[in-house]
Amino acid sequence: MARILRAKLLFTGDGKLIPNGMIRINEVGRIQDIGYEIKSDELPIEEYEALCPGFINTHCHLELSHLKGKVPMHGGLHQFIPSLQSQRDMSEARILEAIEEWDQRMRAQGIVAVGDISNSHHSLACKKNSEIYYHSFIELFGLRSHKAEEIINNGLTLRAKFIEAGESSSLVPHSPYSVSESLFELIRKNEKVGPFSIHNQESEGEILMFEKGEGPLKKMLTDFGNEESSLVQKGESSLNYSLPYLDPKINLLLVHNTFTSRKDIEDAEERHPNLYWCFCPNANWYIEKKLPNIPLFMELGVNCTLGTDSLASNHNLSILSEMQLIQENYPDIKTQELIKWACKNGAMFLELSNKGVFKEGAQPGINEIKGLEDEGKLTKDSAISRVF
Ligand SMILES: [Zn+2]
Repeated sequence: MARILRAKLLFTGDGKLIPNGMIRINEVGRIQDIGYEIKSDELPIEEYEALCPGFINTHCHLELSHLKGKVPMHGGLHQFIPSLQSQRDMSEARILEAIEEWDQRMRAQGIVAVGDISNSHHSLACKKNSEIYYHSFIELFGLRSHKAEEIINNGLTLRAKFIEAGESSSLVPHSPYSVSESLFELIRKNEKVGPFSIHNQESEGEILMFEKGEGPLKKMLTDFGNEESSLVQKGESSLNYSLPYLDPKINLLLVHNTFTSRKDIEDAEERHPNLYWCFCPNANWYIEKKLPNIPLFMELGVNCTLGTDSLASNHNLSILSEMQLIQENYPDIKTQELIKWACKNGAMFLELSNKGVFKEGAQPGINEIKGLEDEGKLTKDSAISRVF
């Protein structure tokens, strides 16, 4: 049966806010009408405080959900990664259980689609049966050039499992500092479909390593047994180094951007017309105790999206909680803008044309947000729930 929903604040997902807006949906949640006053055909009108489309979490590592609370906070990326590596041993049953639990929690918190990093097959069974749409980034890393063939072959084998299960996926590099030139080259040759994703400028150590050949990230990599000669030191930014390996015709997500400068953004936008800049502020706070300069990205008018990263570096997988942290630190950013990043921009990145926006014919999922101030500002008490 059709339903009519009215919200004091109707966030349409593309940056607009309609006060006292209404939508009509059919029994499968498809939008039939949207506006100020729509024909109710005698149907009761359901009243809400605020509504918005389902969220797109563009960066997650669902397979790390069992690591919640296991990695110490604020140690910096050079301590976070070794701590993560030492925690990876856990029974497969516990890993799978945590994946199932958090897939359902994400859906309950209004998330309808996820761009999810996979280093293993652990999340595959869950994704196949989930209500959430997943695109899996089969992520590869390795600095030893002679291992590059073996790494790509393992990636292709894992990718084949996702294809066989009918799951959307693509092979991607982990980050500029963890992938050899030979492996970058092999990924470029073997992967022609997207979208793509790469961790970008998450720590100051990454900047120091690329531009000066020093710092804590470089030390971490040599402590892992990598030859100093295998580490990249180009005297240029890590972003400049990695971009030429990534086809500019294919959507690319740059994840974190905590230490990205104005020049980095301008240069990258010039070289790559299909860039999306993903912020995971809770994870940045957890690991580095620092946030990206988000107003700078807005000033330059680039496409922003939101992600939760993993439970190894976050207390929740909630897009609303990411929006709350951003607005708390940058109070001038309006809620409708943050919702646009979480909805329309995320859907554009993953090429999901029927999600992200309340428009006729779309089936974007519907969320209620409660606990907003009058003009729509989020508060500490704001809460999200799923209406459809
Ligand atoms: Zn990540």
